[in-house]
Amino acid sequence: MRKKIIAGNWKMNMTPSEAVELVNTLKPLVDNDEVDVVFCVPSIDIIPVVEAVKGSNIQVGAENMYFEEKGAYTGEISPAMLTDAGIKYVVLGHSERREYFAETSGTVNKKMLKAFEHGITPIMCCGESLEQREQGVTMDFIRQQVKVGFQGVTAEQAKTAVIAYEPIWAIGTGKTATTQQAQEVCKGIRECIAEIYDESVAEAIRIQYGGSVNAETAPDLFAQPDIDGGLVGGASLKPDFGKIVQYKQG
Ligand code: PEP
Repeated sequence: MRKKIIAGNWKMNMTPSEAVELVNTLKPLVDNDEVDVVFCVPSIDIIPVVEAVKGSNIQVGAENMYFEEKGAYTGEISPAMLTDAGIKYVVLGHSERREYFAETSGTVNKKMLKAFEHGITPIMCCGESLEQREQGVTMDFIRQQVKVGFQGVTAEQAKTAVIAYEPIWAIGTGKTATTQQAQEVCKGIRECIAEIYDESVAEAIRIQYGGSVNAETAPDLFAQPDIDGGLVGGASLKPDFGKIVQYKQG
């Protein structure tokens, strides 16, 4: 049985002091050992958030990372900086990074390899635009993102990875994919992983759904056989995130 993983993506929100306040509000609400709870936070919030979550079940993730070890890459953050600060996860290839910061599946792949090298678990995002869905090319597009993203990743590494299926049209729009749409694509991603590796990797890898997840939609989504939790944007900044993490009690 795969353990569910519910991660918040704070995006470019929360100053360091606001971040600590939010952690202190959410800490008692997300206390649930049955699921992995991850707060993916802006770089400047990492150190205070790692400190603030001490003694709780919350793990901390970054929202991005560079693929080089160190050097003249002004403004970037290295994997060693992240691990030294206590980071366990990193979101890679979020559609906002692909759209606004020219992230490609090629650079996502380099970052994936580097994250594994440093023992950081990648949460690799993939997902189609509304246009692609309407053209009927959703699965072709996502399969390509997954295949390129996992190039050179070993089977043992892939087993520990997390993939977040995030239809672009559902992110920050309040428009959640239907449970059926989300399950269908997550199943397709698992089949793609089985083709690249084998059934044992496909069975082990965790696949999240992301896109306007809220306390009402979470229970149904997370009950699907191929949905192993969620990547949550807007709702992760509110007490609602506690209800999402405690989705079974709703
Ligand atoms: C996200 O940013 O990964 C996301 C899914 O955002 P939201 O939940 O706000 O749609």
